[in-house]
Amino acid sequence: MGRIRIPRGASDVMTVLALDGFDSYVVGGCVRDSLLGLEPHDWDICTNATPVEVLETFAKRGVKTIETGIKHGTVTVCLGDAGEQYEVTTFRIDGEYSDSRHPDSVSFTPSLREDLARRDFTVNAMAYNEVDGLIDPFGGEKALRDNEISCVGNPADRFREDALRVMRALRFASTYGFSIREDTAKAIHQFAPRLNNIAAERIQSELNKLLLGSGVLQVLLDYSDVMAVIIPEFAPCIGFDPKNRYHEYTIYDHIIHAVANYTGDDLSVKVALLLHDIGKPQCYTEDERGGHFHGHGVPSHDLADIVTKRLRYDNKTRDEVLTLVLYHDSVIEPTYNVVRRWLNKIGETNFRKLLQVRMADIKAHAKGTQASRIERCLALYDILDEVIAQEQCFSMKDLAIRGKDVMSFGVPEGRMVGDTLRHILDMVINGEIPNEIEPQMQAVQQYLAVRAHE
Ligand code: ATP
Ligand code: MG
Repeated sequence: MGRIRIPRGASDVMTVLALDGFDSYVVGGCVRDSLLGLEPHDWDICTNATPVEVLETFAKRGVKTIETGIKHGTVTVCLGDAGEQYEVTTFRIDGEYSDSRHPDSVSFTPSLREDLARRDFTVNAMAYNEVDGLIDPFGGEKALRDNEISCVGNPADRFREDALRVMRALRFASTYGFSIREDTAKAIHQFAPRLNNIAAERIQSELNKLLLGSGVLQVLLDYSDVMAVIIPEFAPCIGFDPKNRYHEYTIYDHIIHAVANYTGDDLSVKVALLLHDIGKPQCYTEDERGGHFHGHGVPSHDLADIVTKRLRYDNKTRDEVLTLVLYHDSVIEPTYNVVRRWLNKIGETNFRKLLQVRMADIKAHAKGTQASRIERCLALYDILDEVIAQEQCFSMKDLAIRGKDVMSFGVPEGRMVGDTLRHILDMVINGEIPNEIEPQMQAVQQYLAVRAHE
């Protein structure tokens, strides 16, 4: 196991608390990640000092504090030159959960063990300080060694208290490539429907981490029922046999293989892959050659629109995801003209993402059907790189001529100017004229002459 090396700022916070006679420990994610040999992204501290005592301890030494969540026992301490912030939380016990979401009340306790007992998984229920070493009453370190997620205490009780833990279990399993212990897994299946009580934003945030995890394939294979709770539109995809030579998987299994095939860290690409075929069951037809899903990009796009809105994705992510889903299956010939046209239509960033989506999608199809399609996709990458490297023109802002050049022919400001520029841009994209002023002025003249005769 990795060593726990408390950073300077956190250790200063703990030293100050000790000066006033309080105990404190680093706790939760930072202990887990340190033992795994990973760099923790934040260091949470827990203490037997009450929130008011924490405020006083730092205030009297002139250290800035923020009353982050006094009711829940959390004070943020701002310490260090770089303005580092540490959350210091009083040991606490959660009260009853009547809404599967929030404890109705929290009460403070002098017992670290009680604080660890309210935490979700054994790997998250460890604390550490220099004096006492690792405090691990529930076998978290062993669970890390066994690559296993398991609840602290009775799993059914824990998921009944807070259904978000269902998503958190899947998320941790995916992030670390862990399995989920049998009793915990069983309770997850049982309590998954209670995710309906959980705020969409919180589900989205766990789903995102789940999708980006290295163990995503196994988790989504084992917990399709959970996915069908948070995204009911998946239900018809699960077990759906496409009866088509391109597919050796059901629709759902194809989808999750595609998700797993993309190993980059772009969330829009991941979410687009998750939703790229979700509308397939709606447009299934069958003939003597087998099953077909003609035009499935459109119903998938429409469902993705609904799903991403419900899960409260931000507008930028939604726009990207919807573009990628809509066009994931479009025929794109690997020629310069076609690539420039797509760049004009969706921009370079989205076009690159679209190629990633297509690659991951193709690799989730039947083995015998991949080679030629992968080759075409690679050819598109090559052409794209060349178009970009040569700074070829594919958008209005790169066009050699401007509106004022069109107006120099006596065209009044207005729609005709835009129409003319668009016509010239199309000619450039199609490789009919170069992106230079002279030939474009000639083409403007010809275009205006033709329009004048219409
Ligand atoms: P990371 O920050 O890497 O996503 P984390 O374990 O730090 O992981 P946080 O959401 O920051 O996760 O929570 C900090 C700690 O609080 C957890 O390690 C866990 O001990 C506890 N915790 C968080 N959410 C819950 C919950 N829903 N139920 C019980 N304990 C929780
Ligand atoms: Mg954390």
